[in-house]
Amino acid sequence: MRPAIIRKPAEQSVTPNWDDSAAARAAFSWQAQAGELCGLPGGGLNLAYEAVDRHAQGRRRQHVALRLLDRNGGRCDISYARLSSLSNRFANVLKGLGVQPGERLFVLCGRGLELYLGVLGGLKLGCVVCPLFSAFGPEPIETRLRIGEGSVLLTSEALYRRKVAGIRERLPQLRQVLLYEDNGGAVDTPPGTLSLAQLLAEASDDFAITPTTADTPALLHFTSGTTGTPKGALHVHGAALTHLVTGKYALDLHPDDIYWCSADPGWVTGTSYGILAPLLLGVTSVVDSGEFDAERWYSILETQGVSVWYTAPTAIRMLMKAGAELARRHRFPRLRFIASVGEPLNPEAVWWGQDVLGLPIHDNWWQTETGGIMLANTLAMPIKPGSMGKPLPGVEAAIVSRDEQGGLILLGDETVGELALKQPWPALFRGYLGQEERYRRCFVGDWYLSGDLARRDADGYYWFVGRSDDVIKSAGHLIGPFEVESALLEHPAVAEAAVIGLPDALLGETVKAFVSLKSGIEPSAALHDELLGHGRKRLGAAVAPKALAFLPDLPRTRSGKLMRRLLKARELGLPEGDTSTLENPR
Ligand code: ATP
Ligand code: MG
Repeated sequence: MRPAIIRKPAEQSVTPNWDDSAAARAAFSWQAQAGELCGLPGGGLNLAYEAVDRHAQGRRRQHVALRLLDRNGGRCDISYARLSSLSNRFANVLKGLGVQPGERLFVLCGRGLELYLGVLGGLKLGCVVCPLFSAFGPEPIETRLRIGEGSVLLTSEALYRRKVAGIRERLPQLRQVLLYEDNGGAVDTPPGTLSLAQLLAEASDDFAITPTTADTPALLHFTSGTTGTPKGALHVHGAALTHLVTGKYALDLHPDDIYWCSADPGWVTGTSYGILAPLLLGVTSVVDSGEFDAERWYSILETQGVSVWYTAPTAIRMLMKAGAELARRHRFPRLRFIASVGEPLNPEAVWWGQDVLGLPIHDNWWQTETGGIMLANTLAMPIKPGSMGKPLPGVEAAIVSRDEQGGLILLGDETVGELALKQPWPALFRGYLGQEERYRRCFVGDWYLSGDLARRDADGYYWFVGRSDDVIKSAGHLIGPFEVESALLEHPAVAEAAVIGLPDALLGETVKAFVSLKSGIEPSAALHDELLGHGRKRLGAAVAPKALAFLPDLPRTRSGKLMRRLLKARELGLPEGDTSTLENPR
């Protein structure tokens, strides 16, 4: 058995930004932190100005902002000064086309320079920017452009031809489409499109930023669609403060870090922490345009000297699958901090980091709606593997249930309830597009309700139990799928596990597990029984799965989250609902 706690290292190469003492917590105030932002010269606040221009005008002018890696091993460094003038050019391009502040600019780009110019230039003009995942097919792109009323689109020629040209006539509000060529060459512009390179070449390096304020809408992010149709969450420029503070305290970013966020900006992590937080803190970000490949990822960590790495359970699982041998062929002397978000991180994965990379993985929790990290295992505290950590400075969390009048009851330690956060904080979302009522239902009094069930232990650590839709109620027990899945993952044959509740006349629901096996291991009746037995031994008969099926793969969103609702719909013969973010549609 592994210990329940991983202690803080006695010596650290860099002094952590945050110490978890009561005094440090009490001293925190958003108001005091606001001094870390400088504001626009003439008044107002703009995310892109804070992220790029203020560094470009100061001592970090020539510091590398982006280290762009291409699929073939090529590398190109972009300084803060250059990023500032290029994003000014893009803002001028938009302005020249008559695009107005407040218009919705969609950015459908791979992870390369154009993505950054689109997001930052759009923010400078005051557009509401919506990054889209470039692996989406035409349908999810069309739905999002339609719901989001996108009037401008930045994308590559190849993506346009494959995914947008065929839906264009159904999107009358889409007035301008700007295209670039993936390898920087000239584009052959189909009708109704313009060449980005040509427009950039003609544009000025100087741009007077639109005087946005902390409350001006800045970004539109669609949720992952794990529990249903993705919702469009609106965020404001003031979110900069949450990004900056959490980048400092949860990710421990320091000025000389080489930072890599391996999430795609099509998901909120890739924008808040792949684009904005590192720039706000003036660090160097590695930007990799390639897809996941275990060997390549280890090489990036090693050769780029990555010091802080922010990733996700799905990537860690894939690295684990690739085997420890591969990792051991590399050395990571500069790597000092690893964090993960997006799904529960099983204790096995935390320990895998410790064993194979020499560092534990720090889980943290947040949502598209919260705009930034809320709970985290940080360098300032011991890690409890399997826990999401503690509320960050400036975040007040609680476990709640609703009373009969619709009010909230704050629950004590070790009681399962809904995870709530005291509002407001700078990055809290300001609306679901077109769903006013749904937005309002997220708030009760001072609290934002997350829809996730969790419990807090006596040391103040929060433990994920499940999404309220996924939790199983069996014979009076509330069973969190994560706990059951983590227990199954401890079995050496199991690569992935997902559990759902099936209706049962007697018990309310019973637990059914779906398991995919490690490569080289074949399903068999004996293994089936062994796994059920393992579950009973680890969890007790009341919580353990009563049924189990083998699947070659489990259904996941493109951002790697288990879609338990699909397993359930398939099992019960019900409609599958929205599958626009499903990784491998059948
Ligand atoms: P949708 O709202 O469309 O169903 P989604 O909730 O998956 O999709 P995101 O906002 O990307 O969309 O994901 C946030 C959710 O991911 C959280 O509410 C939580 O359920 C889960 N999550 C994120 N981080 C963690 C974590 N560290 N541990 C457990 N769950 C996490
Ligand atoms: Mg959600």
